[in-house]
Amino acid sequence: MAKGMSSVQPNHHKSPYQVALENFDAAADALELPQDLRAMIKYPERILIVNLPIRMDNGEVLHFEGYRVQHSTVRGPAKGGIRYHPAVTLDEVKALAMWMSWKCAVVNIPFGGGKGGVACDPKKLSPGELERLTRRYAASITPLIGPQQDIPAPDVYTNAQIMAWIMDTYSMMKREGYPVPGVVTGKPLAAGGSRGRDEATGRGVFHTLECAFEHLRMKMKGARVVVQGFGNAGSVAALLLDSHQALVIAVNDSRGGVYNKNGLDIPKLMMHKERTGSVVGFAGAEPISSEELLALECDVLIPAALENAIHGGNAAGVRAKIIAEAANGPLTPEADRILEEKGVFIIPDILCNAGGVTVSYFEWVQNEQHLMWELHEVHERLERVMKNAFHEVLSLHLERKVSMRLAANMLGVGRVAEAVAVRGLYP
Ligand code: NAD
Repeated sequence: MAKGMSSVQPNHHKSPYQVALENFDAAADALELPQDLRAMIKYPERILIVNLPIRMDNGEVLHFEGYRVQHSTVRGPAKGGIRYHPAVTLDEVKALAMWMSWKCAVVNIPFGGGKGGVACDPKKLSPGELERLTRRYAASITPLIGPQQDIPAPDVYTNAQIMAWIMDTYSMMKREGYPVPGVVTGKPLAAGGSRGRDEATGRGVFHTLECAFEHLRMKMKGARVVVQGFGNAGSVAALLLDSHQALVIAVNDSRGGVYNKNGLDIPKLMMHKERTGSVVGFAGAEPISSEELLALECDVLIPAALENAIHGGNAAGVRAKIIAEAANGPLTPEADRILEEKGVFIIPDILCNAGGVTVSYFEWVQNEQHLMWELHEVHERLERVMKNAFHEVLSLHLERKVSMRLAANMLGVGRVAEAVAVRGLYP
């Protein structure tokens, strides 16, 4: 299989799953959860590994490996995206599934946590190969997924079209005679998607930043923002900040970065990326390396690419006042400690990027009840959910004098533990 883009993750770090387990232990300790209750909620409930033989356009058959992990269904159907990336591993998918359990609980939506992935480089697949891979993967995970069991969504390098193929394949396999839109979220509008889903993660990041600015008595107008990873989450957050008069001074993607100390023209940059596939070469900006970008002096740094982007080796050089984790797991535990000591205000991933799963929940509600909400209804509900969650995490952070990350994990883990306890599964 072709290996293309390099991951941000240097290989000497702890694996994402080790980090997720450690974060769980810290939250469980702070909540003083009994050991037997921890054992009931800590580990994935179900794991499926699938072999995906795909006929390529040149006639050759290549093998890809795919995964679907259900970490928890205690609070509702498992919910979580599907990632296509050369660096996808089962370990990573287990970590991402676990984070989803706490994330859904932090924003208090009635879903558990799941995640899926296929180790592949979608940039090297033709549209036909991508569709065949997706349909084979969807057919292979059909025993696990369903509107009441497990509901996938887009993640890195998957999109609305891929969700439509999954929904179509699932519907054919189930032979109900009609489409089952509630089996995935993040679908195109024409296939039962929700208004506002495509921008939901970036919009949620923006709302948590509004709250953080208010809490820290900082002004958004003129605030300098740096975005690592100008994809779905990063570009929408950048656009909203730009439209509220913040200065987005640098952004990058897997191919390189651009910098302008007076602020980049984000709508034009989005068009440039749409046209060329990258931010590289944007007029009115200078090139910037990934290392330089992360070390820029700024008010807000938004890591919006992959795990472990900021680690022990580069964290000391970070000069941001706020880090808004649009990506999942962008800080290693070592980076986390260094940045906490420096007094950086961190909006942790399971809070910061929960806008995506929140509007996924809205999409599922609309599908299950045959509704179609207006865009302003989706935006208003999202804003309410994100701001409530931020203030709940902030209250715990202030009352218990713990980091924002630990506070978010305590809120998420605590809600899952409470669900187990009230259902009588424990003791
Ligand atoms: P995406 O595929 O739309 O964008 C990812 C971007 O990161 C691309 O622009 C890519 O070029 C860039 N990138 C990859 N490697 C990079 C590197 N080494 N340096 C700089 N940039 C790099 O994906 P997305 O959906 O925006 O997801 C980004 C992050 O946000 C992931 O961690 C994902 O799990 C998280 N997230 C996404 C959603 C969602 O709804 N899309 C929801 C929650 C969390």
